[in-house]
Amino acid sequence: MENLAGLYLHIPFCRRKCAYCDFYSKAQPKLIKPYVDALCWEMETHKDYLDECRPYRLRSIYFGGGTPSLLQASDFQQIFQTIEKHFDLSRCEEITLEANPDDLSEAYLASLRDLPFNRLSIGIQSFNDRELAFIKRRHNAQEAIAAVKRAQDAGFRNISIDLMASLPFQTLESFADSVAQAIALKPQHISAYLLGLEPEVPLSKSLAAGLWKECDEETSIAMYDMLCQRLTAAGYEHYEISNFALPGHRSRHNSAYWSGLPYLGLGPSAHSYNGRTRRWNAADLKAYLAGEQDYEEEILSLNDRFNDLILTRLRTCEGLDLIQLEEVFGKTRKDNCLKNAKPFIENGQMQQKDDWLRILPSAYALSDNIIRELLEV
Ligand code: SF4
Repeated sequence: MENLAGLYLHIPFCRRKCAYCDFYSKAQPKLIKPYVDALCWEMETHKDYLDECRPYRLRSIYFGGGTPSLLQASDFQQIFQTIEKHFDLSRCEEITLEANPDDLSEAYLASLRDLPFNRLSIGIQSFNDRELAFIKRRHNAQEAIAAVKRAQDAGFRNISIDLMASLPFQTLESFADSVAQAIALKPQHISAYLLGLEPEVPLSKSLAAGLWKECDEETSIAMYDMLCQRLTAAGYEHYEISNFALPGHRSRHNSAYWSGLPYLGLGPSAHSYNGRTRRWNAADLKAYLAGEQDYEEEILSLNDRFNDLILTRLRTCEGLDLIQLEEVFGKTRKDNCLKNAKPFIENGQMQQKDDWLRILPSAYALSDNIIRELLEV
């Protein structure tokens, strides 16, 4: 089998923090230039992590953040030159830039068209101005719509947009309206996530102060069911619990995570995986810029690798390949997995068919509970 891998580049800058966000990023865009130098330096020093993928043939590259659309064309040129120096891009199918709608001016999009990007992932989250303002996004609904149209006019033919459900003040109706607006823009891909809050983010504090009320579980499930039904009816393939794509437009980069391909993550807080170990960089921009690019690493036990397989594959519509499971982990573990899955197969939440075990789409909203029962402790 050909050795392919993914490359993730973390850009830890935002103009300002959104109220729900706990991704590692700083509102210090002035540090971008030295950061690009440090990122290229890390690429030189850590490229060997993918040693099983020699000669480092990349299938996908993903610029995430933070707000990668704060970088200028010259920054990207410097990064791409370094990537080309160290990796084989002959099999690279997808190069994604995460972008905020308000960064996507006509001039900026034109500058991106001269770079190798062939996919944009635009963080819209909602098409409701009250919801957007409360979570402190920098755009309103009209600006988001205009940004997607400008990207399409600039020639981007592979656009993903992000939506969020269970936002403050969101109702089933307002979420349905956001879903309708998303469909009307005809993006090739839509990711939709339920709001999840870490204790230290501002939205958790405003919740505790009684400024808004959390969506109840019944409404959250109704939102998810409506989303799945409307996107499927509009021709989107529901290929992963939170991801939908028009035919031929699944995210190659995220699919690689879910199918266990190795990946190298660069930048503070980025994670890497090479099949034997997992590595995560320290979330410390100051130290990173000072050349102290610390990371922690764990060697994956057989149990860790088994649980990784369950956690990732059961999120996808194909599910878990039982032949591969037995080949890698043995018959006893496979039989144990099927024994744990049996109650869910019997109650219609899972299906075992042609040596594949999968969670049925009607039970995706309960997938966390199902997957938990199949993990080995
Ligand atoms: S733009 Fe993205 S990374 Fe930055 S604060 Fe908002 S959600 Fe977080």
